[in-house]
Amino acid sequence: MAAWRTMRVCWLVSKDRSCQRIKLPHLEMVVIGRGPETEITDKKCSRRQVQLKADYNKGYVTVKQIGVNPTSIDLVDVGKDQEQKLKPGQVLHLVNKFYPYTIQFSEEMGTCLDREAAEVKGVKRPQEESENSNVESKSSGKQVKMEQRGCGSCSKQNSDSSSVSSNENISSKKEYSAYWAQGLKASMNNPSMQVYKDEKAVVIKDKYPKARFHWLVLPWHSIPTLNAVTQEHLELLEHMHTVGEKIIEQCPEKDWLRFRLGYHAIPSMSHLHLHVISQDFDSECFKTKKHWNSFTTEYFIDSKDVIKMVKKKGRVIVDKNTSALLNLPLKCHVCKQQLPTIPQLKEHLKQHWPK
Ligand code: AMP
Ligand code: ZN
Repeated sequence: MAAWRTMRVCWLVSKDRSCQRIKLPHLEMVVIGRGPETEITDKKCSRRQVQLKADYNKGYVTVKQIGVNPTSIDLVDVGKDQEQKLKPGQVLHLVNKFYPYTIQFSEEMGTCLDREAAEVKGVKRPQEESENSNVESKSSGKQVKMEQRGCGSCSKQNSDSSSVSSNENISSKKEYSAYWAQGLKASMNNPSMQVYKDEKAVVIKDKYPKARFHWLVLPWHSIPTLNAVTQEHLELLEHMHTVGEKIIEQCPEKDWLRFRLGYHAIPSMSHLHLHVISQDFDSECFKTKKHWNSFTTEYFIDSKDVIKMVKKKGRVIVDKNTSALLNLPLKCHVCKQQLPTIPQLKEHLKQHWPK
């Protein structure tokens, strides 16, 4: 009997034309070029211009140029009979810097049969979605679902990239990390994860919240990391900040909890995301020194400071020693007392919780 569940798919999507997206199944060769599927009639484009092979575990598509005229990725020619990797966020021009395409990995509904087919082909999956219950409320005509307290996922699953190594079924940690890093894209497109959306951005609850309330604001526009942000994104960054504030406004505990809005200087997940996080750090998912220091040292850059820096310098400059901040001793973010272990820090934090 067929049961519904989510399955991973990869699509090749035209950036400038409204033609049909093309499905790229896991590890299957797909050849495209001039023809009805792409609606390209340009004779410079061969009927067999490129061969594409998506790898759902590695999170990229291998592109081989078969046609004579140049295919390029981010404006760099692939070369006849050569292969290059096409990653999410990069632009594939099919021929002569025309016909731009991007790839999108996403989670879609499928049946067991699809899943079995995927497993036969060796698609590894990180975790099943596990939903927290939601209470709905409204904000300025746009739909907002407020999350109830609790972690839902993490007590069973040892979660984000800093704990990747604990998964025993992974043949290659690197492959798994690449696949894992794409997880936000699946979540932001999953209606059951969305708590707010408008034309520019979407808010999801963090799947492994490090505090009572922890959301991520993501732009629909694909910006891989803070590194890629430029002045042209200023309006979007400001919009994301405003959306973050709007989400806090909806929070039933906003009057007694403090919130911060900011970015990790070196994010682990692909696709720009603004953290909106309450400062109680009361969560089972908060487990490690890295978690703590990533939210309480300069590793966490306030959204307002990011905006200021982009206005002033045109981009976000991250100090080369930033990653060392994750290894700093544990220090309470409120009273600055140093604590020797995570359990002791957690116990200490309780005194700062609102009564
Ligand atoms: P960063 O270090 O800024 O990249 O943080 C990524 C955040 O995404 C972390 O807080 C994770 O708990 C969260 N996260 C990881 N995977 C997912 C997912 N599939 N859906 C939603 N949130 C996720
Ligand atoms: Zn303290």
